Amino acid sequence: MFIIMFSFLIWPAHLFASAPIVKKVAPTFWWAGMKNPELQILLYGDRIAACDVTLSSRDVELKEVVKQTNPNYLLLYVDLSEAAPQTFDIVLKKGKKVVTVPYELKARSRNGNDIEGFTASDVLYLIMPDRFANGNPDNDVVPGMLENKVDRNGQYARHGGDLKGVADHLDYLADLGVTTIWLNPIQENDMPDGSYHGYAITDYYQVDRRLGSNEEFKALAEQAHQKGLKVVMDMIFNHCGSENYLFKDKPSTDWFNFKSHYTQTSFKTASVQDIHASEYERRLATDGWFTQVMPDLNHRNRHVARYLIQSSIWWIEYAGINGIRQDTHPYADFDFMSQWCREVLDEYPRFNIVGETWLNSNVLVSFWQKDSRLAAPRNSNLPTVMDFPLTDLMNKAFDEETTDWGGGLYRLYDYLTQDLVYPNPMSLLIFLDNHDTSRFYKKAEDTANLTRYKQALLFLLTTRGIPQLYYGTEIVMAADKSEGDGMLRRDFPGGWSGDKSDCFTAEGRSDLQNEAFDYTRKLLNWRKGNDVIGKGSLTHFSIMSNVYVYERKYGEHSAVVIMNGSDEPQEINLTPYREVLPAASATDFLSGRTVELGEKLSLEPRESLLLCF
Ligand code: CA
Repeated sequence: MFIIMFSFLIWPAHLFASAPIVKKVAPTFWWAGMKNPELQILLYGDRIAACDVTLSSRDVELKEVVKQTNPNYLLLYVDLSEAAPQTFDIVLKKGKKVVTVPYELKARSRNGNDIEGFTASDVLYLIMPDRFANGNPDNDVVPGMLENKVDRNGQYARHGGDLKGVADHLDYLADLGVTTIWLNPIQENDMPDGSYHGYAITDYYQVDRRLGSNEEFKALAEQAHQKGLKVVMDMIFNHCGSENYLFKDKPSTDWFNFKSHYTQTSFKTASVQDIHASEYERRLATDGWFTQVMPDLNHRNRHVARYLIQSSIWWIEYAGINGIRQDTHPYADFDFMSQWCREVLDEYPRFNIVGETWLNSNVLVSFWQKDSRLAAPRNSNLPTVMDFPLTDLMNKAFDEETTDWGGGLYRLYDYLTQDLVYPNPMSLLIFLDNHDTSRFYKKAEDTANLTRYKQALLFLLTTRGIPQLYYGTEIVMAADKSEGDGMLRRDFPGGWSGDKSDCFTAEGRSDLQNEAFDYTRKLLNWRKGNDVIGKGSLTHFSIMSNVYVYERKYGEHSAVVIMNGSDEPQEINLTPYREVLPAASATDFLSGRTVELGEKLSLEPRESLLLCF
């Protein structure tokens, strides 16, 4: 709506040859009454730096006008501390030519405290929008965009999925029992190829039109909320796409690292925390570019920092999202990211942010969590980090024979004994797989062993942390990263009209898929709103007789998991576990049968019990 009005008002100025043309305004609008009263308004247009700037508003104060080395930019810093909701004019004067850019300050429809972040009470469901469901075939190809075809047989091509496809299946997701949807990036990726994954943003304020519109995303978030689902948006501050106007016609060379010259990152982000690392390696890891077409933003440039911080706050305020997943978190500047988290949480105290901390040990991951003693005196202010080491262990633990001193479930026990390194273990994002890893089953034929999945899912949904599932896990989709990243992101069967099978329905799923789906749905719905898991303590026991036992407890209620990590039957002595077994018998939630808790307990090979007290 604003864009139309804006174009209409600007267009007549185009008739004057020397009058400036404003092509971009970022943010496109803002709100009165935000906690932080300062706003940066970036104006992009032909030689607009030659203009004098005034504002038509009495209560919006123009504090600073900053020119860049590129005359096509002007950065305005305004003070909104006294500003009421309004539309004012930014007046650009060049000689006798005048262009006015209307700028809207909306009234807030939220107060900041009303936005509830995701917590350990939630389960996230990760969706790659291009690959989940095609709700609107009309937007598959958008004329004028650089990648303007779909090819469902191409693993790196666009397949046509979109926000409407997600909206169409909100009931499916709510019924499945997940409580939060995390979408891979939906911002515009107008890149010549590989645009389907969304990690090369070309406009931070615009939903990619092949996925939908900004209004559609806002409506999707509202619909999700009505169905009890939270929404997490993916954001990327480390880099943007090389077709972004900010790179193609950069304000100044120091908007990007290495003075805007392509220098490849080493991907070795351990050097950020490595007390022995050389400056050369540390700089290459964080300032090097992710790829040649993903230039690395310079967060030490205050204008870049402000631009990115505002873009995140804009989406929270606009769409009411509940969380952000920040891509490649350790590749960005530590102090900038810390400032960003602090500012977002100042504005929205209950919000949550998870950083992609793809590091191979709990020591390194923990460094990035808010209040880490390892990072002190610095503080990342990042509430949630990703437990990648646990992912690796879970992908081994349910295949191997467990012994009391190693292998199988011992790996999980041993890893959790080290949780003291984390400032907040309950706020770790835990997952079997995601869009960048092999799926939990690498090959379809392996899914015949569903016990492996059942044990893994039980553990994932009952141990500490915030579980995340990857779309298609519930129907045991399999994929191996060695066959290409696109294969990890296959279409959800039934998401496209005419698909051979529709796995959104029981009739469309195979017997094996229905068994996995029903089990997943049952556990997720049990977990939903269950404070024993969402808020409870974790007490676990060392492996005894190849069996792992742990308790989740909140107030008077508890749940105890007993898991046989062996392909052999086991008989365990219950004496060591008395402090978590408050009754002589209990119901196993998984089978529905009553389990007698006498001196001994017999378990079938790989049997799991979920006892509720
Ligand atoms: Ca579509």
